Amino acid sequence: MLAANLLRLATEFTYERAKPFTGSAFADFVRHDIAMDAKMALSLWHFDLKVKASVGQGVWASVPWLGFFDPLITETATQGFYVVILINPDEQTVILSMNQGTTAIYNEFGQFRGREILSRRAKDMADRVAEFKNHFTDDPITLSSTAGLPAGYEAGHAFGKTMQGSSLTETELSDDLYHMLELYETLVSRGGTTPSEVMHEEAGGKDIEETRRYVLSRRIERSARVRKQVLSVRPAICESCGLDPKRDYGFNGPVHKTPLDVHHAAPLSGLSEGETRRYSIQNDFLVLCPTRHRMIHKTENPSDLQGLKDKVRFKIARDVSSYLL
Ligand SMILES: [Zn+2]
Ligand SMILES: [Zn+2]
Repeated sequence: MLAANLLRLATEFTYERAKPFTGSAFADFVRHDIAMDAKMALSLWHFDLKVKASVGQGVWASVPWLGFFDPLITETATQGFYVVILINPDEQTVILSMNQGTTAIYNEFGQFRGREILSRRAKDMADRVAEFKNHFTDDPITLSSTAGLPAGYEAGHAFGKTMQGSSLTETELSDDLYHMLELYETLVSRGGTTPSEVMHEEAGGKDIEETRRYVLSRRIERSARVRKQVLSVRPAICESCGLDPKRDYGFNGPVHKTPLDVHHAAPLSGLSEGETRRYSIQNDFLVLCPTRHRMIHKTENPSDLQGLKDKVRFKIARDVSSYLL
């Protein structure tokens, strides 16, 4: 059970990390058993999440963690933002946190400036989902470590809850985790850490609801995971003009590298916030060449493939070279 095993992690970590990392049965317990417990706890959760538990790579970390990653945002703890359970082994606390990838920010800005950026973004995240205050707090967290990564987690913490390991209960933990994942999803559907100006610029003069739906829809269709899944159930041929990169361009790379786009054709409008993520790989996507993809986004109804086909007058292949001289 997740709560019981997190308590074990919190109480035994300091003792275990004095032993060699390689071959540690305790490290395996965290990586496998705790990750499995978390997956079980999520069995009723309604969208795709990647789960990972870690005690360090090659060497013991100061702060073990269990992360929940939305593949539309990130699949690793090094970048993006995600829900994470951090363990403070000194105080034996378990901290549920909306947090951010530290490594990518450190690499770009250095640790000192990186932490300033993380805490600024943490505030932006909290502002975007102000309803977190119903369940959680934005009080700072403490991880009792001076190492770089834990200091980054402290700075990157947007909101959450610190719990004493010994008083954790399965029900409370599961409730809190579900609330936090709902906030995660809400944050993603409101644009995540993308600044408002950038969202409006991308969406091009729509109101805030439309802008959010547009940005989310584009995020969905650009997701590497979604793209792979769609291209495994639909042929890599433009569904509007029939362009077949394999036949027409002699493209012979792996199918997910095809120079075609995946288009999220199911309208997100009409769905209430929180439901907007339930896309169906089977039914909600089209494969389009980049040109037709651009065109369909310029039409009134970006889910109307037939409408796009009817609009296009260019039906005969022309030799462009004769126009160039
Ligand atoms: Zn095409
Ligand atoms: Zn599209």
